[in-house]
Amino acid sequence: MFSAQLINEPFADPGVYVKLKYRDEAILFDLGDLHHFPSRKILKISTIFISHTHMDHFIGFDHVLRICLGRDRHIALYGPPGFIRNVENRIFSYTWNLVENYTNDFVLTVHEVHTTHIMAKRYRCRDAFCGEMIEESGPFNGVLLDRDDFIVRTAFLDHKIPSLAFSLEEKSHINILKNALGEMGLPQGKWLAGLKEKIHRGEPDDTPVDVAWKGGRPSPARTTFSLGELKEKIVKITAGQKISYIADAVGSEENREKIAALARDSDIMFIEATFLHKDAARASTKFHLTAKQAGELAREAGAKRMVIFHFSPKYRGKEHLLNEEALAAFRGLS
Ligand SMILES: [Zn+2]
Repeated sequence: MFSAQLINEPFADPGVYVKLKYRDEAILFDLGDLHHFPSRKILKISTIFISHTHMDHFIGFDHVLRICLGRDRHIALYGPPGFIRNVENRIFSYTWNLVENYTNDFVLTVHEVHTTHIMAKRYRCRDAFCGEMIEESGPFNGVLLDRDDFIVRTAFLDHKIPSLAFSLEEKSHINILKNALGEMGLPQGKWLAGLKEKIHRGEPDDTPVDVAWKGGRPSPARTTFSLGELKEKIVKITAGQKISYIADAVGSEENREKIAALARDSDIMFIEATFLHKDAARASTKFHLTAKQAGELAREAGAKRMVIFHFSPKYRGKEHLLNEEALAAFRGLS
């Protein structure tokens, strides 16, 4: 259901763009420089998750703002403690005296995530972005977004400041086998949504399911089936996909545990790898991971695939060393 890509090459500003297939929608993790990124893709973004507001993770904010201005767009942003002030400082560095006449309204909903609760404020372009507090929820349990088909979780990592890591997980996928449906002489239609809901809720196999025919059923067709029979004959359940995004963090034991738990069984694990392990002392004072640590973490999490990014410019021309080091650790060879 997801297709994910880095927004820039690994020496440039970090960020991952995730397209939700079958929806005209995308999610962004971190807001590095987006000037080389196509505007048509930026216009699909519904939600942006920011790990922390160091410049290289947040400088793309103005670019998104500019592209979306005057359009009927609503973007939700999530960021660490202090995030609302960070966003307001960016917004109010501009003058907004001509926006009330815009036909379309561009709306930003900004969520500031704390370990105990989430604060949220909404900003409307047509109101010159004067914000209104909209909710304060709690207690916070690590879930940022829980939609019908996917869930986004976060963990607080130590980067000398709080840095949020994220996982995006598709809920299990219920596929209707159209051919089998036809062979049983059953119609498509709304009743299938009801069937999926029963499966999602985990109802017992002897639960009766009524089949609804548009314009009445053809006799002598059956109208009621057991949930178990339908699951066996016309349904295929596939596991959901999982993507995790681990940005800046020091290679401490506490971070390791949190990262491995959040990214457990990811299909793709994006993880920063700023330094080579021979420069581990420097990585530690800069509160970043080494390529070896990134590979070990992806291995510990049981990730199927690892993508490293956020390389220090000092290794330009030697990126193969970072890739080789991370891959060796990921495969348990170092
Ligand atoms: Zn940073």
